Amino acid sequence: MRAVDLIVKKRDGEELTREEIFFFVRGFSEGNIPDYQASAWAMAVLIKGMTERETTDLTEAIIDSGERLDLSSAVPFAVDKHSTGGVGDKTTLVVLPIVTAIGVPVGKMSGKGLSFTGGTLDKMESFPGYRIDLTTDEFIMQLKNDGIVLSGQTLDLAPADGKLYALRDVTGTVPSLPLIVASIMSKKIAAGADGIVLDVKVGLGAFMQTVEEAVVLAESMVNIGNRFGKKSCALISDMNQPLGNAVGNVLEVKEAIRTLKGGGPDDFIEHSLTIAAHMLVLAGRTDDIDEAKALGTQSLQNGTGLDKFRTLVQAQGGETQFVDDEERFPTARFIETVSSWESGYVSEVHAREVGLSAMSLGAGRENKGDSIDHTVGIVVHKKVGKLVEEGEPLFTIHANEEKLLKSSIERVKNAYKISKSEVDELPLFYRTITS
Ligand code: URA
Repeated sequence: MRAVDLIVKKRDGEELTREEIFFFVRGFSEGNIPDYQASAWAMAVLIKGMTERETTDLTEAIIDSGERLDLSSAVPFAVDKHSTGGVGDKTTLVVLPIVTAIGVPVGKMSGKGLSFTGGTLDKMESFPGYRIDLTTDEFIMQLKNDGIVLSGQTLDLAPADGKLYALRDVTGTVPSLPLIVASIMSKKIAAGADGIVLDVKVGLGAFMQTVEEAVVLAESMVNIGNRFGKKSCALISDMNQPLGNAVGNVLEVKEAIRTLKGGGPDDFIEHSLTIAAHMLVLAGRTDDIDEAKALGTQSLQNGTGLDKFRTLVQAQGGETQFVDDEERFPTARFIETVSSWESGYVSEVHAREVGLSAMSLGAGRENKGDSIDHTVGIVVHKKVGKLVEEGEPLFTIHANEEKLLKSSIERVKNAYKISKSEVDELPLFYRTITS
């Protein structure tokens, strides 16, 4: 078999066999197929697509390039969640403790943030001492003992994906549906959970710009999950504006803690309860989403979710006094609130612009490996559909450099649109896709 023949075959719109896909992924991952051939192949896949069977084989070939975690020795059924990435998306910090408090174990491997979307590990590293580098044994032991783990990758999971993604990133081949599906699902499946809830974002701050595109992606991911014996479902959620109010690591952690203490913004509470409810249903805790949400609400109101969050922080070496008093976290040097320049209804808070602005303040990284500033970010006080009077607080910038504070104020001002006529609030979810 020759790599060039497989590139030509896909270029001409033909279906690759399982053997051909495995040959290509193995050859690339072992260094026998060079980057330029893998790039050409990825472009052919982007243009010609793949059948569901090809996507399944591609997912399996990528899983086979590394190790697979087996959680069965720790818990009978583990659930996981995955978000396709968003601005202000601190859902994991609230959902994991809720689900664990209700008796369903969650072992989650997360990533660091890149570009305008934040990373869950960066948020957790706001706690001094919090370890994100658990070994596999530590991961499994903590899952068994505490029922909750949130760490970086413990094993070499799906290494072919990391290598291929780096090429896709610089060859314009990221937005290929089968490549995205295989990339996300290979990592999730290799991470060992039995049930997976996928939070597929759509809108101005997401990969997918239309609900239709997001549904196609979500359906394909759910299908692949099911084919690998994982109970899977997907929710299509809004990412036109930031989720909740806070964007930036410490700011988001504080918002998550306030939510676990029974406060927090309404949209973020509802989003978290819905994701948690689907995880509980997949795990068989109940088959009724409303009942699952009611259980989640109880765990926010009676403090059991907060207790599990404290357990998580403690188990991974973080300082728990920050959980008890979130005001102890360090703050940025400059904190400036911008008031509305006119009265009207907020019609847009451009998620991507707010995310990029937070990144330029130092909350996120432009390149892998860049260091970040945990204290900086943005708090949006008024979301789409809300009435705002001239002079009322619209957003607050937390910055450590005056120059960045000024440029961020201008950028976030431009992210806002205010309309004279009434505007509907944005929905939180557009669709649910079950198997
Ligand atoms: N996230 C991933 O992990 N892979 C993709 O291809 C796109 C988003």
